[in-house]
Formats: sequence, structure tokens, C-alpha cells
Amino acid sequence: MILARYFYNLFFPIFCIECKKVGYKLCADCFQQIDLCNFQCCPTCRAYSIFGDFCSARCKADNNFDRIISCSEFKPSSIIVRLIKEMKYKFCMASVDYLVEILMKTFDSFISFFPKNTVITFVPTTKRRLKQRGFNQAEILAQRLADYSGLELLPLLKRFDKSQQQAKLSRADRKLNLSNSIAANECFKKFVNSGHLILVDDIATTCSTLNECSKALRYFHPSEITAFVLARSYLV
Ligand SMILES: [Zn+2]
Ligand SMILES: [Zn+2]
Repeated sequence: MILARYFYNLFFPIFCIECKKVGYKLCADCFQQIDLCNFQCCPTCRAYSIFGDFCSARCKADNNFDRIISCSEFKPSSIIVRLIKEMKYKFCMASVDYLVEILMKTFDSFISFFPKNTVITFVPTTKRRLKQRGFNQAEILAQRLADYSGLELLPLLKRFDKSQQQAKLSRADRKLNLSNSIAANECFKKFVNSGHLILVDDIATTCSTLNECSKALRYFHPSEITAFVLARSYLV
């Protein structure tokens, strides 16, 4: 195996995205340097919050989820964000492995927080986008988290094609564009049993997508909805 990797690297060298060392997408030294959140914040005002809950009813306002747990703070040049880009735009499966490891590390520190009937789900993508990209990165992360945790994964949400690509729209347009484009997959109702739901996505910026998904997830009458993301941006 080591010999096979040696010859593979000889002809198709892989470089560490951080230090350019040959052999791995991210070398062990650079992986250790990844800056993970050592505390969570209120999703609205960023006040310290032990489990990422809203700090007050005012901050909760019309948000349909109960908290956001984030593995890291979003920084455009951070290792995590670069790994996410490699996964999303170059379909680099080696990046997925590192991201899943990060996800599992953070999940482990909250493991006692999720009861056994917790169901994992993910932010859905449109059929058109799925065809273009060939995969939904949120689904891959959710599936791997379910495999690791032993919790059930269900595709509880669907997204309609009328929604345009979010990244190309302004913040106000994003909110408008999202309205009614995400709905519950009603056939899964009997499997949820009013349990705790974990909603997985890669990056949370305005949280409008997470909120729209959570609004649709209310159909299942969950006890709580926890959004779980790799990187959270507060620059809004
Ligand atoms: Zn390195
Ligand atoms: Zn707050």
C-alpha cells in the first residue's frame, strides 16, 4: 500500500494545500493547525453560548432552528474553507475525509447532547444542481456523520428548481428567492417521532437557507432543531 502510494505520488503528485509538502492533500502537521471553535455563539448577536443557542427571545425572533453548532469560524483563506472549495468545485474526495474528521471531532464534544432518537438530515439541493455537480456536499457530510454516530439519516427536505443559484444573488434577493422553494418530504413523517433533528450544511452565512429548511422541518414536529455546519460566517 505504501509502495503503491509512493509510485502514485511519483506520477501524480499531491501537495498539501497549506505547506505544499508532497504526499497528502493536507499533511498531519497542517491538520493539527486547523483552528476549531473552542466555544459556540448565539447565532444572531454572537454572544457566548455554551451549545450555540440563541441568548434571548429577541435574538431567536422568527428563526425556526434552535441553535447552530459550528466547527470553525468562516475565514476565506482558512484551511477548512479551502478544503470545502476543493470538495465542492473540484470534487476532491480526499478533502471530504479531512472535513468529516473535523465534523466528527466537533460532534464528539456535543455527543451527550443528542438523544438516541436524533435524526440527521441535510440542506437539500435542486435536481438541476445535483445534475450539474453530481453530488450534494451537505448530503455527503450528513451521511458520513450518520455512519460515524450511528444516528439515523433521513432526506427530510426537498428543494424546487425555481430557486436560482444563491451565490449570485444579493442578501435581500436570497431571502426572497428562497421563500417556498424548500419543503418537507412528507413520506418520512412516521420515522421522525418528534425527536431532535440535526440539519447539516457546509457553510452558514446569512442563515436564511438554514432558517428556510428549519421552517419546512417544523412539519415533523421535532423537539429541537440543531444546525450543524463546518464554518460559520458572522460578517453579515
Ligand atoms: Zn502541510
Ligand atoms: Zn443573542
